[in-house]
Amino acid sequence: MSAAAQPGRLVFLDVDTQVDFMLPSGRLYVPQAEEIIPNLARLMGWARQHRIPVLSSADTHAPDDPEFALWPPHCVAGTPGQRRIPETLFPDAVVLENRPGAFHPPREWVGQLIIEKPVYDFTTHVNFDAILASLGQPRFVVFGVATEYCVLADVLALARRSLPVALVQDAIKPISEEGGRKALQEMVAAGAQLVTTGEVCSPTFQDVRGFRFEPLANPAATDYPSSYF
Ligand SMILES: [Zn+2]
Repeated sequence: MSAAAQPGRLVFLDVDTQVDFMLPSGRLYVPQAEEIIPNLARLMGWARQHRIPVLSSADTHAPDDPEFALWPPHCVAGTPGQRRIPETLFPDAVVLENRPGAFHPPREWVGQLIIEKPVYDFTTHVNFDAILASLGQPRFVVFGVATEYCVLADVLALARRSLPVALVQDAIKPISEEGGRKALQEMVAAGAQLVTTGEVCSPTFQDVRGFRFEPLANPAATDYPSSYF
């Protein structure tokens, strides 16, 4: 493997942890999704503390989106249900609309970039290639909902690009148990490594190809309300 092709920084991918999916009051509630909220909060807090960039995909639909032929209307732009739950939303998150030219590479990759998308696979965002180029060849830790739809689509898309993926199995939820089981098998077959929240939030974490997470010598104090993390 050439130096240029070696995976670089660790990046967290937080998939669609939005009110409409995560909470029983949501428009397309993923059953028992709220059970993973403590793990989501821990992962986000760990990212914040160790300055790990977080890409957060956000389902974002027009009121008449064609997807609503398949699903009840959900995550309509501008509605409260489209927002992230507080546990996965940094106060200084940057929202990236799905339009050409919206992405400007940051001087420093820290914090949360919310990537709006109207379909399952967030790599279809018009700026995705530019984001990826700016990150180098990152290695991903993936969590969120729903396992057999957007999580599956994202993991397979990243695997097709030969990017290492670790899937946090206690921080995902399926819409159906059977669908979730099949999706896990498919993702593992595509090369995803199954990990736990506790393993990821550890100074000894190694990803699927043996790359070690290098914790900061002086982790940042989290500047969040303690109710978040
Ligand atoms: Zn949708």
